Amino acid sequence: MTLTVLMNAGPWLSVPPPGYGGIENVVATLVPELRRLGVRVVLASVESSTLPVDEKIAVFPDGQFHALQRPYNQVCGVSQAHLAGVVRALHRRDDIDLVHDHVEAVGLATMAAMGPDAPPALHTLHWDLAKHPELYGGLDGGDRVRVNGVSASQLARAPRALREHSVGHVHLSTPLAVDADRRPATPKGDHVVILGRINPGKGQDLGARLAHEVGFPLVLAGPVGPYHRPEDLAAAGDEARQNPDVRFFHEHVAPYVDGDRVRWVGTVAGRERDDLVASARASLFPLRWEEPGGTAVVESLSLGTPVVATARGCLPELIEHGRTGLLTADEEELGDLVLAAGLLEPDECRREAAARFTPARMAERYVELYDRVRHGATVP
Ligand code: UDP
Repeated sequence: MTLTVLMNAGPWLSVPPPGYGGIENVVATLVPELRRLGVRVVLASVESSTLPVDEKIAVFPDGQFHALQRPYNQVCGVSQAHLAGVVRALHRRDDIDLVHDHVEAVGLATMAAMGPDAPPALHTLHWDLAKHPELYGGLDGGDRVRVNGVSASQLARAPRALREHSVGHVHLSTPLAVDADRRPATPKGDHVVILGRINPGKGQDLGARLAHEVGFPLVLAGPVGPYHRPEDLAAAGDEARQNPDVRFFHEHVAPYVDGDRVRWVGTVAGRERDDLVASARASLFPLRWEEPGGTAVVESLSLGTPVVATARGCLPELIEHGRTGLLTADEEELGDLVLAAGLLEPDECRREAAARFTPARMAERYVELYDRVRHGATVP
């Protein structure tokens, strides 16, 4: 029997995403592999998503990422409108065997409220939830609602109510991991890169300070709040500071950005992003939060770039200290580790990615979990 999965990627970005987009990248990586395994996929996203699927459900014409700078109730409005579209579709049809939800804990509660007609659901936890149990207050959809983590450490830290609904964890993947071990190596430059949202948890302020103190060129790539390009942020004016990430950037990162030792290049995408990471001496993750899944960490390995990071969240699961990267509990030590990262072998990183983090592996694991969800199992 063919399995039909409704994959909810949310209303924020198209799939695949134009640049930044952790969750959307995961969905874009997972869906083609699931379809190769014979799963039918109905994608709930925005109309402009170009990922080939069996069917699409969309409320909004394109990604609503820009709405994230609006007041909170309007952000919720976008979310609710998207969810209402998903629930309407579920009411209309009886061919959906399972909902795989990536975004909305609220969505799971809504489905639970649909009663026995709702299909079973798997919600992938993408965040560090130890501090936000309230997000999952509504997760009492009985045996039909299950969750999975994106690392063992994320699940271990999750509130008990979530762990009791867990079917296990699946490490994130990237298409870059396919045959990563066979691709010719990219010549290394001198720079170090931090790829990710500019955010206190990702620690760009610490990385930038160490770049000046220890003396290495640092490229910061990623959006600041909803702003993807430095010129857009510059044009946004003072109102933009209502966004906490914009405030963080102005107050704690920008003072180090001198266009020479430390540069902020905005969001990078596609080939430009891959070249920037592949040619870096190291990828730096000066984390101040418990990184839940670390797509950018896996991408760095796939591109043959060793990872230097604080040993937080999933980092010790993804990185073998001394072989594919260097980890420390002492953030002041990161600068010295960056200098030592040149001694690590890019080939080891690429071998690791090709062995552990391929899209095919991620999809096979999800099919296993779908089976558990449909049979009401849990794996504490
Ligand atoms: N990303 C990108 N361009 C950027 C910054 C980030 O394409 O300028 C991508 C990055 O390659 C990764 C994703 O955005 O695929 C970030 O995912 P991650 O899990 O590392 O971080 P989070 O989901 O916490 O933002």
